[in-house]
Amino acid sequence: MSSCSSSHYSTLSLCLCGLSPVLRTSWTDANPGRRFWGCSQRGCNFHLWHDPAVGDRAKNIIPGLLKRIQRLEDEIKRCRKKEKMLQSMLIGTFVVISVLVLCLLLFFIPCYCSWFNVMTTLRLICYVLVSFGFV
Ligand SMILES: [Zn+2]
Repeated sequence: MSSCSSSHYSTLSLCLCGLSPVLRTSWTDANPGRRFWGCSQRGCNFHLWHDPAVGDRAKNIIPGLLKRIQRLEDEIKRCRKKEKMLQSMLIGTFVVISVLVLCLLLFFIPCYCSWFNVMTTLRLICYVLVSFGFV
């Protein structure tokens, strides 16, 4: 795995494609974070190290840190997905409660409240609960 930067090779050397090489960063376990010059189009195997060899301590620590970063990024993705799901549930709950409150206002508040309106309201509440899958 490597990443590309916009820096171009400062000497007259060209890659096998005849292009100016670009500075990239190696993220392999053997050379983590070590920069090298590579083909800008990835069309050939041109490779020239820019940085000195990575020390043993860095070889041991950097891959572990990269794996840790990846795990944390995965956890962030899972949390964002869960957050979206909870937001949807919250909106759904808000809609259901709003409908129920509206039903209560429409059927219980009027002074012509009768047993028929109460039963109609209960039926409507049951219908809403069943429709949204709460029962
Ligand atoms: Zn090339």
